[in-house]
Amino acid sequence: MDFRVGFGYDSHRLAEGLPLRLCGVTIPSDRGCVAHSDGDAAIHAICDALLGAAALGDIGTHFPDNDPKYKGIDSTLLLQKTVELLHNEGWKVNNADITIILERPKLADYKPQMQQMMAQLLEIPLSAMSVKAKTNEKMGFTGQGEGVAVTAAVTVMRL
Ligand code: MG
Repeated sequence: MDFRVGFGYDSHRLAEGLPLRLCGVTIPSDRGCVAHSDGDAAIHAICDALLGAAALGDIGTHFPDNDPKYKGIDSTLLLQKTVELLHNEGWKVNNADITIILERPKLADYKPQMQQMMAQLLEIPLSAMSVKAKTNEKMGFTGQGEGVAVTAAVTVMRL
């Protein structure tokens, strides 16, 4: 069986008055991500994991953050394009596991919605989609609330 693993990471600075979007879901928050796109670090991490699994480069090569085309773009569109790219190369997603590191707000209430959104975008069952969230115990840039960090792992299989 032709089977691959991919790993992705992304982080964004947080600033007051910006929307906070993670896994395609808008989370009520007084702070959101500073970014060229909508700043959805979870989707960026999963895109990089997918591209990594298929050895297709990284998100920066496919969707450059200095390209005006991607200014303020809804990152779910980037994920759809990435999944399409993998399909074209003969890969389908098997499962995915996301860890969001954010001090506040607490994400527990939004995890089911994020899981559903990501499962739909990756075209996998809910039982194969994991979204986890944790704080960083007040340590470092995530713990101090300066930013959000996300790691993502995926496995893909030949179509
Ligand atoms: Mg990013």
